[in-house]
Amino acid sequence: MAVLNIVKVGENDEVLRQRAQEVTKVTKKIQKLIKDMIETMYEADGVGLAAPQIGVSKRIIVVDIGEGPIALINPKIIEMSPEQEIDVEGCLSIPEFQGYVKRAKHVVVQGLDEKEKIVKIEASDFLARAFQHELDHLDGILFTDKIEEKEGD
Ligand code: ZN
Repeated sequence: MAVLNIVKVGENDEVLRQRAQEVTKVTKKIQKLIKDMIETMYEADGVGLAAPQIGVSKRIIVVDIGEGPIALINPKIIEMSPEQEIDVEGCLSIPEFQGYVKRAKHVVVQGLDEKEKIVKIEASDFLARAFQHELDHLDGILFTDKIEEKEGD
C-alpha cells in the first residue's frame, strides 16, 4: 500500500471542483487505488477521503468513523431524511479549518464495493454526515460552500 499526496485547496486544486467520472469497471488498479486511499486516510488521521482529493477524478470514496473502513464506488444517496442536523466538519483538503454544516440526519447510500457487488448502507448522524461530505467531493462541492453560522452565534 502507498500513502498518496492529498490535494489541498489553493494548490493545483482544479480536480476538487470537477464532477468526478463514474467507474465503469472495478479493475485491479481500482482495487489498489482503494487500498491506497484507505491507507492515506489513516495516515492523515481523517474519517473520509474521496478520490478527487488524491487527484483522481473518479467516483470513489472511503470512510471510517472508527467502525472499520467502508469503500464505495459510484455511490449515490438513494434516501435522505428531511430531518437535519448542524455539526462541525473539517476536510483533509482544507487543513486547520472547521465549520458548521447542515446535513440530513439519516441517509441510505448505495454503491459498489471493491468486488463490484451492490451494497446499500443505512447511516445516521456522524456516519451520514461523513457520506454526505465525501459524496459532495464527487460533484466538486466542498464543505466550505455550505457553511452556516452556528445557531446562537
Ligand atoms: Zn473533504
